[in-house]
Amino acid sequence: ELSNRAHGLPFERIFGIETEYGVSVTGQRPDSDMLDASHVASVIFEPIVSQSRSTNTYIENGSRLYLDVGAHPEYATAEARTVTDAVRLDAAGENLMAALAHQAERALRERTGNEKLRVHMYKNNTDSQGNSFGCHENYLVRRHVRLNDLEQSFIPFLVTRQIFAGTGVIRAGQFQISQRADFLEDTISSATTRARPMINTRDEPHADSRMYRRLHVIVGDSNRSQKASWMKMMCAHLVLCMIEAQARGEDYRLTRFAMQKPGECARSISRDTSLSAQMTLISGMQVTAIDIQQGYCDAAGRFIARHYNDLAQDMRNDMIACVELWHQTLESLRQGNFSELSSWVDWVAKYQLIQSIKKRSENTQKLNANDATQGTSEGDGETSSTSSANNSQVNKSQTDESQTIKSQTGKSAVDARISQIDFAYHDIAHDDVIGALQKNGKITPIFTLTEIRAARHNPPSDTRAWLRGNFIQQARKNSVQWSADWTSITMLGNRERQAMTVHLIDPFEHSPNEEYDEFMGEILTSRKDDPMLPLI
Ligand code: ATP
Ligand code: MG
Ligand code: MG
Repeated sequence: ELSNRAHGLPFERIFGIETEYGVSVTGQRPDSDMLDASHVASVIFEPIVSQSRSTNTYIENGSRLYLDVGAHPEYATAEARTVTDAVRLDAAGENLMAALAHQAERALRERTGNEKLRVHMYKNNTDSQGNSFGCHENYLVRRHVRLNDLEQSFIPFLVTRQIFAGTGVIRAGQFQISQRADFLEDTISSATTRARPMINTRDEPHADSRMYRRLHVIVGDSNRSQKASWMKMMCAHLVLCMIEAQARGEDYRLTRFAMQKPGECARSISRDTSLSAQMTLISGMQVTAIDIQQGYCDAAGRFIARHYNDLAQDMRNDMIACVELWHQTLESLRQGNFSELSSWVDWVAKYQLIQSIKKRSENTQKLNANDATQGTSEGDGETSSTSSANNSQVNKSQTDESQTIKSQTGKSAVDARISQIDFAYHDIAHDDVIGALQKNGKITPIFTLTEIRAARHNPPSDTRAWLRGNFIQQARKNSVQWSADWTSITMLGNRERQAMTVHLIDPFEHSPNEEYDEFMGEILTSRKDDPMLPLI
């Protein structure tokens, strides 16, 4: 019966993005404030707790907002049928998290009397102590796909897509393309059931398990660029379509990219901004990350041509746009044409920013070195960078902020500035770096602020998220206590009524059935519980 109701067409998919954020607080007075990140996280969640009596809830757009122990608020988008919807919903989550951080900042300033206090909310994957946290992508995949095929055909794609999906990070003084690459373990591509750290296929499909898996990809960086998010998921979607088609007998020869040590490959790609590192595949073939991505991209082109007539038009258009951009991107990467890419590739935009800081500082040092040579020791060509920095300290005014940083930390002023940028790039609460980049035509957003704000309140109309979101809106409006999870919605019981639950097992199902209508009718006529506070 379930199988008849489910109506995902071939190659249709459900997408979801989970984003964990990092929290920190600066500007504290060392003697009195002493707030730690988990305290700040609990202040961030005060409006949620006062409204839903829990740090774990669903919101009007059908998405989930929660705080596990510790200081990493998480937002998991509602189920989306297009990548565009998933990315818009994720941007809405970013907007909501920023609003929550601003609210917490105001509250904490008031409580401490410290107007300098700042609450930061980072959409990144690593904190200053080197801990890593995640961005999970969720893909509904048909059950007939074997796990072994997924490992062999999907992992090489995941390992190499960082060349356009990575967000860049400075670690131990070195620039890396991907924030997550260092945290990936090697998995040998085989059918064994040992842990698969790159994709997690634990069986919680939040759907009919006879038909679907939910593929849980945990290796990606959290993108600030909406277009990078879109590309990484659209490309993944195409690769999964090919893997599903392979399981039905078509051949896109994706297994030829299978890697002996994917974790090792991920790390060597991440450390090589020239993108020329060679990897040895199980087949013995020597290839670069660009070669592998090109192989997937070409195969995706063949997939679209072959299925041109059985793909829904909207999906086909998205796929064509994706393959075109994929192609151009690989060409630009091959030619080292970074200016093409800085409008949307996070690591490239960040890398260019860092390079320009380094260049400016080198120029200043050269100037200072020249000044020093002319003023004091004429003829001494050997002026080390340290001594020129020292000279500049003498020559320049005391208020030079970067010199103050240097004398405080012992780190060079440039390094400190670069490390600060590395974090500020991801700070959605104080979004100055991306703001400045956007003025220069870099990291151009897909969605307007108006669209993003609207997406905070509106669920996608073509998945069960619509039924959930609509229910939550009505329950709130009518002050009815409720609860939900991905596959059910419940109106809680009170003195006058029994609890009522409606199951939403099919993620594609978005039209109300009789049971749902009756349930919603009950909400409208039911006696009011305590009135609900607005969320934020
Ligand atoms: P946790 O993160 O706590 O380990 P989890 O992986 O189940 O648990 P949630 O944070 O609850 O994750 O998020 C689940 C994500 O999966 C959401 O983005 C949701 O939209 C998506 N999702 C739900 N059902 C499906 C499905 N059938 N197929 C694909 N994605 C789904
Ligand atoms: Mg989660
Ligand atoms: Mg998860």
